Amino acid sequence: MSDRYAVIGNPVAHSKSPAIHAEFARATGQDIDYARIEAPLDGFADAIARFRAAGGKGCNVTLPFKQEAVRIAGRLSERARLAQAVNTLRFEDSFGDNTDGIGLVRDLAGNMGVDLRGKSLLILGAGGAAQGVAGALLVAGLRRLVIANRTLSKAQALAERFPGVRARGYQALAGERFDVVVNATSAGLAGESPALPAGLLDEKTVAYDMVYGRDTPFLVQARAAGARAVDGIGMLVEQAAESFFLWRGVRPSTRAVLEKLRGS
Ligand code: NAP
Repeated sequence: MSDRYAVIGNPVAHSKSPAIHAEFARATGQDIDYARIEAPLDGFADAIARFRAAGGKGCNVTLPFKQEAVRIAGRLSERARLAQAVNTLRFEDSFGDNTDGIGLVRDLAGNMGVDLRGKSLLILGAGGAAQGVAGALLVAGLRRLVIANRTLSKAQALAERFPGVRARGYQALAGERFDVVVNATSAGLAGESPALPAGLLDEKTVAYDMVYGRDTPFLVQARAAGARAVDGIGMLVEQAAESFFLWRGVRPSTRAVLEKLRGS
């Protein structure tokens, strides 16, 4: 029987993770079965226990359970501890990790050729996604990291966890410029964009929206300002590759999967 994995979230029907992991398994010759499991909002721990009892080897965790998964893991990687969010569980040693940050860094640095060393970077948003990537971005050698959020207190609470990181409200960004702006808000899912001051994005900015599969108002705005605008599909594939490596000890190539998802 194939080794069983799954992505557990709510909602989860839209998840591209099963297709990505099926492609990784095919390309690396690994015999795995990867499913979607929608857990009730108050039933995450039960869903994990049931999947383990049924022979599951590990799972990805998505909205809204990444923080709850921290309590389920017996042992956390340093990056999951810093993020206080887990997106990958490996059951055999109760290990919890967070591969979102390294996924974003690999997409920016590896796929897009953006050298983050010495750069200034702005994260928009202070929810689970921002929480998951801040530590990995700092380790990548940034000169300056600022976190801006609609609810300023959440940006302040997140920034306090990392030395040297500053928090701002959106309007306080007027007159500032950053080499890279990462939209880690869910605004694009509602057809909205964070209320950014004019001039924040220009032809020298790399503008990255973690939302994927749609042309968000942030990306439209970035392109209109002449910025290099890109969605989060590469991050999704790269974080999945790191999870696959944690479970199987084999690192799949991401290029073919990414090209397929981008339809090129
Ligand atoms: P979350 O914990 O619910 O946080 C949502 C964030 O978006 C908060 O900072 C919130 O601000 C902000 N926000 C929502 N609507 C907004 C609006 N209209 N204007 C300005 N800010 C708004 O969600 P999350 O887990 O951080 O996920 C955020 C997004 O990242 C999701 O769309 C998710 O799909 C995406 N994501 C992508 C990947 C990938 O691999 N590409 C990985 C992880 C997440 P307030 O605090 O003020 O409410």
